[in-house]
Amino acid sequence: MNIYLDNAATTKMSQTAIAAMLPYMDGIYGNPSSLHSAGQKANEALTSARERIATLLGCEPREITFTSGGSEADNQAIISAAKLGEEKGKKHIVSTAFEHHAVLHTFEKLKKAGFDITLLDVHENGLITPDQVTDAIRPDTCLVTIMYANNEIGTVQPIAEIGAICRERGVLFHTDAVQAIGHLHINVKEQNIDMLSLSAHKFHGPKGIGVLYARKGIRLTTLIEGGAQERGKRAGTENIPAIMGMVAAMEEACAKIDENAVKLTALRDKLIAGLSEIPHAILNGDEKQRLPGNVSFCFEGIEGESLLLLLDDKGICASSGSACTSGSLDPSHVLLAIGRIHDVAHGSLRLSLSAENTEEEVAYIITAVKEVVEYLRSISPIWRDLVAGKKEFVIK
Ligand SMILES: *Cc1c(COP(=O)(O)O)cnc(C)c1O
Repeated sequence: MNIYLDNAATTKMSQTAIAAMLPYMDGIYGNPSSLHSAGQKANEALTSARERIATLLGCEPREITFTSGGSEADNQAIISAAKLGEEKGKKHIVSTAFEHHAVLHTFEKLKKAGFDITLLDVHENGLITPDQVTDAIRPDTCLVTIMYANNEIGTVQPIAEIGAICRERGVLFHTDAVQAIGHLHINVKEQNIDMLSLSAHKFHGPKGIGVLYARKGIRLTTLIEGGAQERGKRAGTENIPAIMGMVAAMEEACAKIDENAVKLTALRDKLIAGLSEIPHAILNGDEKQRLPGNVSFCFEGIEGESLLLLLDDKGICASSGSACTSGSLDPSHVLLAIGRIHDVAHGSLRLSLSAENTEEEVAYIITAVKEVVEYLRSISPIWRDLVAGKKEFVIK
C-alpha cells in the first residue's frame, strides 16, 4: 500500500500539466521580453496564459500578476494594501487568528511599521461570521484579509458576504484562496474580491508558481526589483514552462470541480464516520462547511508525530497539520485558534484527499488509524492517567 493523503501540503502533477510544460522547455524557450521571433512566441504563450487564468477567475487579463507561489502573492497583496492605506493615514488591518504564516508573518513586519492588526477569533467550528468583520472595520481600516479555505481544518468562509461588506465600507478585501482554487467555484467579480492569491502546486500544477489577482486600480507594490516584467510589478524573467503547467492544471481542476466534489465528499464523509468511532476523538472544523477533501481530527492522549511515523510504516502519507510547522514542537496555531488546548492539539491528524484516492484506501486508512491510535494509547502514560481518572478527559 502506498497512499498519499497530504494534498493540502502539495499535489502530484497531472499528466496534462506536465505535457503542457514540455514544449516550453524545449522548442519554445525564448525570453518573452526579447524582440525576435523566439521571444515573441514565448510572449504569445504568456499572453494567452494570462487570458485563460483571467477567464477562470472572472476578471481581466491585466488584473493577473504571476508570482513564485502563494506565499509571495500573500506578501505582495498585504504589503500593497498597507502601502495604499498608509498614504491615506489608514493603518489598521482585519484578519483572522488562523491564517497561513505567509499572512501572519507579514503582519509582524507591518506591526513594526506602526500598523494595528485585529485578528478575529475563530469559532470552535472553524468559521467566522460576516458580523465579526462588520464590527471590526474602523474608519482607519485599509484591508480585510481572510482565507477562503483553511489549509489545516478545511473550513470554508462566507467569502461573498465578507466581500460585500468590505465593498460597502470602501475597504480592500484580499483572500488567500490557495486551498480553494480548483476545489470550489470562484468568481472574483461576483464575490466582491479585490485581491486573491493562488498557488499551482495545490491543484496538480508545478511548484514555485502562483498568481496574485488585483482588481484594476489597485496599485501593487513591487517586492522584487529589476526589469519591467509583469507591468513593472514583479521583476524577473517569467517562468513560462511553470505558467503553462499552472494554466493547464487550473483548467483541468476547474472543469472537474463538481465531479470531484461529489467523489471527494463521499470519501471524506466515510473517513469522518470511521474515525469518529475512535473513543475520545474529535473532528476539527465544521462538518459541512469544509473542503470536499479535508479530514482533520484530534485524538486525546497521543502524539501526532508518533501517529504520522507509524502510519508512514503502513504506507500512509498524512500530516499533523501544516507542513510549514512540521518539525517544530509548537502545536498548530490553527488548532489553538479554534480552542483546542495544547495537549489535545498535539494529537492531531490531517488527511487531505485527491480524486485519485479510492474507497478501498479509505477502508484501509480507517483500520490503520484505529490500530495505531490504540497502540499509542496502550504505551502512553498520559492515557493511563486519563483512564485511571487521575486526569480528566478533554474530549468526551
Ligand atoms: C500552501 C499555501 C500557501 C503557500 O503557497 P506556496 O505556493 O507554497 O508559497 C499559502 N496559503 C495557503 C492557505 C496554503 O495552503
